[in-house]
Amino acid sequence: MSAPTYDLGKLHGGLRLPAHKAQSTAATVQVVPIPPQLYLPITQHVGEPAQPVVHIGDRVLKGQTIAEPDGEMGAPVHASSSGTVVGIEQWPVSGRYGDRAPCIVIDCDGKDEAMPRTAVADYRSLDPAEVLLRVLDGGIVGLGGAVFPTAQKLMQARTLETEYLILNGVECEPYISCDDSLMRERAGDILSGAQVLMHALRIDVCYVVVESDKPEALQSLGEALGELGDERIVLKQVPTIYPSGGEDQLVQLVTNRQVPSGGLPTDVGCLVQNVGTAAAVHDWIVDNEPLISRITTVTGDGITNPMNVLARIGTPVGDVVEFTGGYADRAEHLFIGGPLTGKSVSTDRVPLVKATNCILAVFKSSFAGRELPCIRCGDCAAVCPVQLLPQQLFWYACADNEQKLREFGLTDCIECGCCDLVCPSHIPLTADFRIAKGRILELADEKARAERARHRFEARNERLEKERQEREAELARQKESAKEAGPAAIAEILKRKKQRSEDD
Ligand code: SF4
Ligand code: SF4
Repeated sequence: MSAPTYDLGKLHGGLRLPAHKAQSTAATVQVVPIPPQLYLPITQHVGEPAQPVVHIGDRVLKGQTIAEPDGEMGAPVHASSSGTVVGIEQWPVSGRYGDRAPCIVIDCDGKDEAMPRTAVADYRSLDPAEVLLRVLDGGIVGLGGAVFPTAQKLMQARTLETEYLILNGVECEPYISCDDSLMRERAGDILSGAQVLMHALRIDVCYVVVESDKPEALQSLGEALGELGDERIVLKQVPTIYPSGGEDQLVQLVTNRQVPSGGLPTDVGCLVQNVGTAAAVHDWIVDNEPLISRITTVTGDGITNPMNVLARIGTPVGDVVEFTGGYADRAEHLFIGGPLTGKSVSTDRVPLVKATNCILAVFKSSFAGRELPCIRCGDCAAVCPVQLLPQQLFWYACADNEQKLREFGLTDCIECGCCDLVCPSHIPLTADFRIAKGRILELADEKARAERARHRFEARNERLEKERQEREAELARQKESAKEAGPAAIAEILKRKKQRSEDD
């Protein structure tokens, strides 16, 4: 067994925060029953929404593809249990693209009948490119919260010279402990997923990285690694500092390589995948089960019995909370995600989706406080892990100055919320940055759409012009040969030419 090793690089800024995780990790993961209805958003990933391939009234089986990817950046959606499609409609969601989204609604029949399993070839006998294509069909996305389609991320990494696969078990945000439970209970499957990824990418080094405050997870992974005897996989332990689980921060900590501004870990030879994503890859490639469930943490002082649960994707959050024992009397605010990066929601009818790592109900929002003017203390800059100047960004965000926001690196902001936590003036910096980033991305999207439309318009004009010239040439040729045939033939050609002009 490889002994855990320690960090190489140093993280700028960051905070040591109270963990609040003991409550949810006291017991093993509990399985939430299949709900009466599942609500499956067609957008659960970064990229174009998937396109439904079922209709109202269709009977579907567990694991059946119900929406296909559309475009290069896509991921399919699968039915997470058997039943009948009763709606394809707008439903409340907790997503980065709004509060409502089209969902495929399934009335579950309680039979949980699965698609017949086709025999899967041992991935080691397949060409790595074939394994990548198969990952695409499993609906797998980054389960650490980014929900970037995994197959596309792997394909990008394959085109570059990626040296290290880094499995991210650094679950540094307070309250969230779903990855901790996963590492304790399914360490072998995580490592099996790592082996699949290494095969698909032809990588020979994998670091599995865990924080030092997770001794049980470290032990389980160490034991599983000992049984596996794969010396290409190395367990690494890093200090517990928020937000060391950010991709760029993790690369810095583990390899001492700095991801360039605006760049990706693959620019410095690293591919980062969440441990949950590795387990999902194992489930699909080895056990033939697509991504239809996930572990999520249900916690906070507004929850009667905090715990980690395994629930089907599409289960309403209210059903999940009820299963755990319901809300405590004093629950006032509900967040999907952690206290720093999560999103506040006004209803628990929103479904659990691929990105849902935490359901947090709290008595009072710890971030509430009367906002005061910035006093230029600089505390926000001192804790920013990306070495930005949040006070400056805030100024430009208020002024809607897109150019300055870009110059000052807003697009590198990982929305970790550290600046909010230390700001003595209670300025909601991260929320402002999120909105400003959204606007910049929208503008970039609009520009890209306009550019594509311009290309299409120019290509069409070129084609029409070419066709016109070809017709002219053909008519000239016919006219030439008709000169010899006499005036009647010329009149016929001119008549045809006039007719075509009118058609154009
Ligand atoms: S939210 Fe952005 S600006 Fe604030 S500390 Fe985190 S990375 Fe820096
Ligand atoms: S921490 Fe708050 S008050 Fe201090 S400089 Fe930053 S934004 Fe201004």
